[in-house]
Amino acid sequence: MKAVLFEKFQERPRITTLDDPTPEPHGVVLKVEATGVCRSDWHGWMGHDTDIVLPHVPGHELAGVVQAVGKDVRNWQVGDRVTVPFICGCGACPECHAGHQQVCLHQEQPGFTHWGSFAEYVGIHRADLNLVALPEHIDFATAASLGCRFATAFRAIVDQGKVSAGQWVAVHGCGGVGLSAVMIASAVGANVIAIDIDEAKLALARELGAVHTINGAAGTNVPEAVIELTRGGAHVSLDALGHPVTCFNSILNLRPRGKHVQVGLMLGDHTTPEVPMARIIGKELEILGSHGMQAHRYGAMLDMIGSGKLSPSRLVGRRISLAQAPEALMAMDKFQSVGATVITTF
Ligand SMILES: [Zn+2]
Ligand SMILES: [Zn+2]
Repeated sequence: MKAVLFEKFQERPRITTLDDPTPEPHGVVLKVEATGVCRSDWHGWMGHDTDIVLPHVPGHELAGVVQAVGKDVRNWQVGDRVTVPFICGCGACPECHAGHQQVCLHQEQPGFTHWGSFAEYVGIHRADLNLVALPEHIDFATAASLGCRFATAFRAIVDQGKVSAGQWVAVHGCGGVGLSAVMIASAVGANVIAIDIDEAKLALARELGAVHTINGAAGTNVPEAVIELTRGGAHVSLDALGHPVTCFNSILNLRPRGKHVQVGLMLGDHTTPEVPMARIIGKELEILGSHGMQAHRYGAMLDMIGSGKLSPSRLVGRRISLAQAPEALMAMDKFQSVGATVITTF
């Protein structure tokens, strides 16, 4: 198969030919039809992810068709259209038994713990637990964009934030996760305030349902602005960027008993940000993490897409070929384009 491979971190990945994968007894091999290019792939290529063993094939936001099925797989057949969460459960630990595969103790992530989907074929383990059937109305490029940013935002808003109609929701950072969160929170009836420093992203946030936007560029006191607009603070607030400043602001702009959901990853120097703990105690705030979404929760999200309440296809940007993937991967730190870049030809 054709694949994107790197043998050293930070060295230009190359297009090469590798042996086609064969399925594990509990796994499947998918023919990849679309795979997103994500900043996490860039972190992996830089050497920031200790799970990666070289040489490596990246890619974790994928959709495709079942090409081969292991002997112990019961629910899937050759030809099924599927996608997969970027965190796959083991099926055997207490978290998996409780239905929380997104925090599985022995989790696997295609494109990190094993070879991923920047290739014509990819192996997925524990297929009965981790695959998600794709309805006909969802095209592969849109499906590939669900597994990482969109599903993460869905879980943050619906399952962790438990956002309900009429609540105020603040979304700090309008990259892929943030814009997804704006769309999802608006769809469930919340009043959304979007915060970013890029006017183009704020304009898109308004198109996706934000009722107010705040440009957080120098000089703006973001928490004060949110508290004023909401007359007392947001009920739920997300740091969708993953930065000490947006994290701090997101906690500070909550009303009493509000919830902060940390969605953006904190990496490198940012792993232990300062938080206003006195405020958390005095106002009984809740601080929650949100980490992907388990396969069995996809049905709710897919139904909202099917009924037209959510349109993740609006967040798909450039479509590229596998040959363009090394360039796109290496450039992921330079700027975050508004729409997700998806590889759709192999
Ligand atoms: Zn991703
Ligand atoms: Zn597990």
